[in-house]
Amino acid sequence: MRRIGLLGGMSWESTAEYYRLINQLVAERLGGLHSADCLLRSVDFAEIEALQREGLWSEAGERLAREAQNLEAAGAELLVLCTNTMHKVAAEIEIAITIPFVHIADTTAQAVRGDGLDRVGLLATGYTMEQDFYVGRLRTEHNLDVLVPDRPDRKIVHDVIYEELCRGVIKDRSREEYRRIIGTLVERGAQAILLGCTEIDLLISGEDSPVPVYDTTRLHAERAVTLALAP
Ligand code: GLU
Repeated sequence: MRRIGLLGGMSWESTAEYYRLINQLVAERLGGLHSADCLLRSVDFAEIEALQREGLWSEAGERLAREAQNLEAAGAELLVLCTNTMHKVAAEIEIAITIPFVHIADTTAQAVRGDGLDRVGLLATGYTMEQDFYVGRLRTEHNLDVLVPDRPDRKIVHDVIYEELCRGVIKDRSREEYRRIIGTLVERGAQAILLGCTEIDLLISGEDSPVPVYDTTRLHAERAVTLALAP
C-alpha cells in the first residue's frame, strides 16, 4: 500500500471527512484491521483564506508547494490536496514534487464522463465557480458543459461555505437554498450536480437533488485509495 499524503485543513471540517473516507475505503477493500497508510498536514485555514481574499494566489501557491514538499520528504507517495479551490495553485504544487498529484477536477470529470453525462451544474466557492482554473479545465480537458448559478445565487453558495460549513455549522435553511439553486440548474439543463467544494457533502446528499450528485470529496478519496492500492 502506498502512503497517501493529505494536504488539508482547508477546512479541517472536510479534511476530517477525507481521513474517515480513506480509512473506511481501505478497510472495505482490504478487510480485517486494515486502514490507510497516510500522512496528514493540516494548515491554519484563516491564513489561507486571507491570501484568497487578498488575491495573493502566488504566495498561497508557494506556501502549499512547500507543505507538499515536506509531505514528500516525510514519505508520502502520492499527494491529495483536500480542497477544490486551492487547485487554483495545482501547477505550482505539481512542479515542486516528484510524487503523483491527484487532481480533484480530473477525478470528478472522469466519473461524470464515465457515466455518459456531459452537462453539469457546479456548486462551489466563488473562486471555483467564476475563475478559469476549474471550470476551464472541465470544459477544455474533459469536454464538459458547465453551468453555474447566477450571481446572487453564487454569493449564497459561497457564503454558506465560508460562514457555515467551514465552521461546522449545518442549517436546514441553507440546505433549502441549495436545493432551490440545484433546481434552477436542473431546469437550465444540468444532467448532474457537482459538489465542487469539499464541505458541501456535509450539507447536501443525493436526496437533495432530482439528478445525480457527484461529491468531489468522496470521488477524490476513492481515487487516492485506488492509486494507493494499485499493484
Ligand atoms: N474546501 C473548499 C473547496 O473545496 C473551500 C475552502 C477553500 O477555500 O479551500 O473549495
